Amino acid sequence: MISDLVRVHACPVRFYYERNNAVTESDRYAVCKQLSYHLGKPLEEDAIWNEIVTVRQKIDPALKEYLGISITSCNKQEWKPSKETDVRVFSNKYGLAGMIDRITDDGAFSIIRAAGAMPMGTYAADRLRIAAIALCLEEMTGNEVEGGYVEYIPDGVSRYHAVQPRDRRQVIALLHKYKSIVDGQFPEPPLNAPCNRCKYKEKCESSVGHRLSELL
Ligand code: SF4
Repeated sequence: MISDLVRVHACPVRFYYERNNAVTESDRYAVCKQLSYHLGKPLEEDAIWNEIVTVRQKIDPALKEYLGISITSCNKQEWKPSKETDVRVFSNKYGLAGMIDRITDDGAFSIIRAAGAMPMGTYAADRLRIAAIALCLEEMTGNEVEGGYVEYIPDGVSRYHAVQPRDRRQVIALLHKYKSIVDGQFPEPPLNAPCNRCKYKEKCESSVGHRLSELL
């Protein structure tokens, strides 16, 4: 799955420890996702909130304020309505699968994020998502895919990312890393490990000195 590649990219060691854990979506993601179905149409807060509560019955009611803030941000610009939503993409060649959140009339695709946008550009993990989807779409359609949009819903910002060769190389390198972890191989910790606030910090602490001395 493309989401697994993103987790390996964030930290291969953490992915190794958590590879069999189910990933649950956050309340904030549920809010942004539901809002995204309405982009390009009037964003009616009560109607969207009702849908959110139907989908996620135990959602914290305080999140309605987050929905309101996100709607205010999204209303600051024009959005193209979706022609299709939740389109599954896959690549048999690379054993990859993922999901496009929205496709608009002009054939452009986008993924939505429940995160604020950077002042410029896109996060590394989002560039990776766009590149992996482009690889899948190219295999499915036979046409080159130049890039896609990342929609940062809480800030109401849509950013285009043109896929670069380095993004494609990174997808392939991460696929190799992912496969070796799934085969049971313990990955090398990143050189900046251990990381504060990570629950595996102590396990990483013991291996990092060894790794640096191997390299230097
Ligand atoms: S401490 Fe850092 S390197 Fe180690 S598992 Fe956690 S995030 Fe990964």
